[in-house]
Amino acid sequence: MANGRLVEPDVKFINDVIQTGGSSLKKCFQCATCSVVCPLSPEDDPFPRKHMILAQWGQKQALIKDRAIWLCHNCNDCSHYCPRGARPGDVLGAIRAFAIEEYATPKWLARFVRQPKNLFVLFVIPIVLFLIIALLNGTLPPKSPEIKPHNFIPVITGVDIVFVPLALLLVISLFKSLSRLWKDMSVGLEPPSAYQMLLKGGWWGIIVSSLKEILLHERFRKCGAAKERTVPHLLLLWSFIGLAIVTAYVFVAEDIFHAECPFPLSHPIKLLANLSAIALLIGIFWLAKNRLADKDSVSTGWDWSLIFVIMAVGVTGVLAEVFRLAEVAFLAYGFYLLHLSSVFVLFIYLPFSKFAHLAYRTLAYIHEKYYSKV
Ligand code: SF4
Ligand code: SF4
Repeated sequence: MANGRLVEPDVKFINDVIQTGGSSLKKCFQCATCSVVCPLSPEDDPFPRKHMILAQWGQKQALIKDRAIWLCHNCNDCSHYCPRGARPGDVLGAIRAFAIEEYATPKWLARFVRQPKNLFVLFVIPIVLFLIIALLNGTLPPKSPEIKPHNFIPVITGVDIVFVPLALLLVISLFKSLSRLWKDMSVGLEPPSAYQMLLKGGWWGIIVSSLKEILLHERFRKCGAAKERTVPHLLLLWSFIGLAIVTAYVFVAEDIFHAECPFPLSHPIKLLANLSAIALLIGIFWLAKNRLADKDSVSTGWDWSLIFVIMAVGVTGVLAEVFRLAEVAFLAYGFYLLHLSSVFVLFIYLPFSKFAHLAYRTLAYIHEKYYSKV
């Protein structure tokens, strides 16, 4: 008698995928058109046909550790050509959401963040926290007539005391998640020999070429149906890089060199901050417009909540600055409070929401290059 393998479908997972954007999952009849038309699918391990049948059979564990789900850029070229309207691009998007939740540390926070209805609570927590901090610092209301953000929420005993530990916790959390994913993705694969690593340029060569692909969106630009999404995605990515540089600079300038902040509008770091804010706003509103215009794609609360949080960060940041320059203290401080709170929520979103795809996809690129044949 031939050896068989007992397949135990995870029915809950099937239903979850169906409810999280993969509603057309069961229409797939395995014709493989999707794998043929996908511009990013490698010949030796094609996707997404295989993932459609695994999802239909509720093979959650096999799917969430599959590197291919992160090599997909959700361009939906496959969905465009699928003769059954099974929308494999959306199904892979739903599977990625479960992978993020499964690898998240702690999982309960990922589950909480995943529910759009909890977004309000996520915003209220930092608002209350910063108001208590201002109260304890004796800066509620701010005493100085000069409108400066730190006259309201002080630097070290206000901003740093919240964001430094939060950032450290999130980095540790993300590191743990990515380590587990790397381990799971590597099961059964043979690591390259020293000679093969030499040909790949070592770890340095692998990481640099992966980052270059991500930073220039080289793979995304190969997509057809969603080509116009490349520009707003790039705007968003580079605006985050710009704002990260600004944050690091201001942190060192204020905390170590006790520089006077905010910087004047003509200061290079202020110019970078404002340009990044403009790029962020253009990028996120452009993406939202595309999403609204694309009637075929499935948009879930999971997609929209991240868009909303990024919009909140950009809009409140710009309004806080506008009202500070216009010397409207109440609104300047009010929007500054909302801005800090939005950034807090964005930090929480980083490892636990769709935002995490940036880290997971970069890891998948590195993994693919590390294990590829030379
Ligand atoms: S998802 Fe569509 S294109 Fe892909 S195998 Fe199924 S039916 Fe064919
Ligand atoms: S969404 Fe795009 S990248 Fe993903 S499987 Fe379909 S065609 Fe390939």
